[in-house]
Amino acid sequence: MSILLKNAQVILPEVEGGVRSNCFVGTRNGRIDYLGGEEAGLTDRYDRIIDCTHKTVMPGFANAHNHAAMTLFRNYADDMKLMDWLFSKIFPLEDKLTDEAVYWASLLAMVEMIKGGTTVYSDMYFFMDSTVKAASEAGMRAVLSRGLQGESGGEDLDYRLKENLELYRQYHNSSDGRIKVMLGPHSVYTCSEAYLRKVVKASAEHGIPIQIHLSETKEEVRNAIEKYGMSPVRYLDRIGMLGNTTVAAHCVVVDDEDMDILAARGVQVVHNPGSNMKLASGIAPVSRMLEKGINVCLGTDGASSNNNLDMLEEMRMATYLQKVSTDDPTALPVDAVLRMATVNGARALGFEGLGTLAAGSPADMIILDTEQAQYYPKYNVRSALVYSGSSADVETVMINGSLVMEKRNLITLDEERILYKVNKWAMKLTQNS
Ligand SMILES: [Zn+2]
Repeated sequence: MSILLKNAQVILPEVEGGVRSNCFVGTRNGRIDYLGGEEAGLTDRYDRIIDCTHKTVMPGFANAHNHAAMTLFRNYADDMKLMDWLFSKIFPLEDKLTDEAVYWASLLAMVEMIKGGTTVYSDMYFFMDSTVKAASEAGMRAVLSRGLQGESGGEDLDYRLKENLELYRQYHNSSDGRIKVMLGPHSVYTCSEAYLRKVVKASAEHGIPIQIHLSETKEEVRNAIEKYGMSPVRYLDRIGMLGNTTVAAHCVVVDDEDMDILAARGVQVVHNPGSNMKLASGIAPVSRMLEKGINVCLGTDGASSNNNLDMLEEMRMATYLQKVSTDDPTALPVDAVLRMATVNGARALGFEGLGTLAAGSPADMIILDTEQAQYYPKYNVRSALVYSGSSADVETVMINGSLVMEKRNLITLDEERILYKVNKWAMKLTQNS
């Protein structure tokens, strides 16, 4: 189906201050095929016209680090230290997970992401076949990896890596190219060196990008220095894991030399301000990393350490954190944080042209209702969105040229059923815990 968005105000995140008014955006076969003013016969060329008068259109958000099925543990264990939270609360429950629980919890995440204007997201978890099924049904664009972890180098580890490779073989570029697969070593502190080296080898052999948690806490860095005599960034560089298709989540505790290495290798860094604040991990030096030319993007992390998947909120937290940590209110301005949430994230996840509005780009867009009180007076819609907007202002969402939400009604997902199923699973899994 071809769709024309008519008479919209358009935000172009990749252009400094980029806003256009009375704009027409045409989509066909999953791609944008027209962007410009009205011209004779334009409306006749499309199957469907959506009037966007008084609305704002922009690329959907890219949530570049998430664990979708962890919505299941949202608000189950809060106010704890990361390692304590992971090892005493989360890992024991994860041992009880089933493919069906992961399927419904992934769908819950997709309901929330779509309603908040996220059109592409990245996931690291297990029972990923279930998440593939969920993303495929939801119409989401997703980059999925099987979480890999283990201390020894035995058979047990091989089966996880094999599962990740099988996931790649079966689903990479599936669902009309909406689904991609990466390798997902969890972190330096949950994988042995031998295991990480195996992952690097598999990545090189098959050309599969890697995503990993990196330098998230002071404790992680302290332990790496004790164990390996160097920071986690230098350690991964020595192993050969850092390259321009490597996505490193967090990078909170990094010194200048670490950042220079990340920049030199072209590593894609994902900032997760909500999770970092909640777990008191610290504040990533995002402004410094951007100055050094690192492609920094934005993620929510899993819903149990955030505790939502709201990219608008994440943008605001990101810019506030840079300002307060650098004593500089000019730090991480609107334009920079808008790029992080859209085009930088899409680039990190390997989708060409995504996150921009231009002829030829994938048709992943959102329509926002910017006629509400918080958008008045009408000075600058980009500022209004970052500093005053809310995810509830997202009205309509298009992914790959198909509408997945229209006027707040989900088209691909049965929200009521998903909420019921997830709650049932949550009660079942936490019984006797
Ligand atoms: Zn994470």
